[in-house]
Amino acid sequence: MSRSTQEVRVRVPAKINLLLAVGDLRPDGYHDLVTVFHAVDLFDELVVRLADRHSVRTVSPGSKAVAGVPAGARNLAGMAARRLAKEYRATGPVAIEITKQIPVAGGMAGGSADAAGALVACDRLWGTDVPRDRLAAIAAELGSDVPFALRGGTAVGTGRGNLLSPVLTRMQLHWVLGLGHEGLLTPAVFGELDRLRAAGDPPRVPGVEDMLSALASHDVHRVAAALGNDLQAAAISLQPGLRRTLQAGLQAGALGGIVSGSGPTTAFLCESAQAAADVATELAGTGTCRSVRVASGPVPGARVIG
Ligand code: ATP
Repeated sequence: MSRSTQEVRVRVPAKINLLLAVGDLRPDGYHDLVTVFHAVDLFDELVVRLADRHSVRTVSPGSKAVAGVPAGARNLAGMAARRLAKEYRATGPVAIEITKQIPVAGGMAGGSADAAGALVACDRLWGTDVPRDRLAAIAAELGSDVPFALRGGTAVGTGRGNLLSPVLTRMQLHWVLGLGHEGLLTPAVFGELDRLRAAGDPPRVPGVEDMLSALASHDVHRVAAALGNDLQAAAISLQPGLRRTLQAGLQAGALGGIVSGSGPTTAFLCESAQAAADVATELAGTGTCRSVRVASGPVPGARVIG
């Protein structure tokens, strides 16, 4: 694509945390995380064009407005564009249109995905050719899940989730995703975890070793057994109906089920693509979630598609 390109289209995936271990609250208000990120083929698509002024518009695949996503400078995609423009003195404001499939406030890092998508799109549109490691550093400043959205695949995240090392697995995982009726705000879920821990220290998930050896074994049953999320109890405490969704997915035949990240999306690991289709149909029939999707991973991170 030439440097005079007027429009760039980027696709960027949602993530599931196969394992999410949350450390205690630090004095600076953050928690140390050890997590295994996994990118799945549920995508937001961004079209970025040169324009008279910066703008961001978010629509659903049917072009309907999407609730709960800021339209202006507070949109993470817009912030990413401005951040890149400032550092690289890029010329030309951009109009960003996001077609959103990743659930909003769903624990699948949709906002972070859009920020990563905007970085990749603007870099191409402006011809700034920012080196990949510099783009990753800017991504980390924008949010702890943004570097993974840039990279995709499967990766261990440490620190606040922003320090990544790739997991080289060819194992394809088949998922059913249960989308929640209402979103959950990530800070509220971490706050609830702190409260639960202060009241009685609920069980914690083990380190990542079991998950990494399960992925290396290519045994989906072992991966299912190793799924874990320290935020799950907090998400269920805030939305007790999630317990029923998790039970319904397992009863429908999933090998394992977890709350994704801070929730309320639930992610069910299935034996095969066919099994996922069957579980999805049955889960949808239980009425325990707003809607149901099948997905698989790993997939690459933010990529230019046109
Ligand atoms: P995470 O899993 O990264 O903690 P999430 O997936 O639960 O986050 P997001 O969909 O990323 O949640 O949205 C979190 C909040 O960020 C929303 O309440 C929304 O107001 C704000 N936000 C800003 N920009 C965006 C964007 N482009 N898409 C979605 N939300 C955005």
